[in-house]
Amino acid sequence: MLTRADIGVIGGSGLYSLLDDAEEIQVPTPYGPPSDIVTVGRIGSRSVAFIPRHGRDHRFPPHRIPYRANLWALRSLGVRQVLAPSAVGSLRAKHGPGTLVIPDQLIDRTSGRAQTYYDAGHAVHVSFADPYCPSGRAVAIEAARSGGWETVDGGTLVVIEGPRFSTRAESRWFASNGWTIVGMTGFPESVLARELALCYTSLSLVTDHDAGVEAGEGVTHEEVMKFFAQNVTRMRTLVADTVEALPTEPTCPCGSTLDGLDLPFELP
Ligand SMILES: [Zn+2]
Repeated sequence: MLTRADIGVIGGSGLYSLLDDAEEIQVPTPYGPPSDIVTVGRIGSRSVAFIPRHGRDHRFPPHRIPYRANLWALRSLGVRQVLAPSAVGSLRAKHGPGTLVIPDQLIDRTSGRAQTYYDAGHAVHVSFADPYCPSGRAVAIEAARSGGWETVDGGTLVVIEGPRFSTRAESRWFASNGWTIVGMTGFPESVLARELALCYTSLSLVTDHDAGVEAGEGVTHEEVMKFFAQNVTRMRTLVADTVEALPTEPTCPCGSTLDGLDLPFELP
C-alpha cells in the first residue's frame, strides 16, 4: 500500500475539513470494512488518516461500530498514534458542557462487543493498567490549554453499552464511584488500540450532565448533537494543534506493548 499515515483520528465527520491533499482509500481488513472509506491527508507536516467513527451517514450506533476493523485499518496504513475525539456526559456538576476532559482511566460497562484481536490461537494478555498514552495526553492537554480551553487533566471515563442513555440511578451510582464522565464509544476502541501497540488518546468533550447531576429531563440525543455541532470548530483546532505537536519518535511505552509476547498473527 503506497498511501501511508503516521497519525490516526477517529471522530465525527466535522473533522474532514482538517485534511489537506486528502485522498480517499478503501482499506480491507480481516474484520471487514472500517466504518467508512479512510481519508488520508496532511495536517501541517504530519500525515493523518481519518475514519468517521459512526460512518459518514452516522449509520453505526455505538454498539455496532466495527471497532476492530477501524484500528486494524489505521495500523495497516502505518499509523502508530491515535486521537479519539468524542462526546461525553459529565458526572460532576463542576464540569459543565463545553469542558474538555482528557481521561486517564476507564471503566468498561459494555457487553457483547468484540473487544479483542486475540480470540483464536492462544491467549495474549496485554497490560491495560493505564489505558491511555501518557505522551498523547500531555500533548493534548498542553494544546488545549494553549488555545484557552478549560481542560480537565485526568478522570475516569465509564463506557456504557448504550444506545440508550443512563438512568438517574445509574448516573448517580457512576458519580458516587468517583467516575468523571460517561460515554459509549471509548471501549473497546482503546483496548484494541493497545492490542495493536498503538498510542491512544481520548479527547472527551462534555455535551451534557448525563441523567444524575441535575434535575430536569435528563440528556437527549438532540441536545448532544446540537452541542457537539456548536463545538466542532474548537475540536477541529484542538485535533490539528495536537497532531502537529505529537512526537515524531514517541518515547511512551505503548509501542512496546507486545514485546516478548508470542502473537498468533503478524501485525499489519
Ligand atoms: Zn503512547
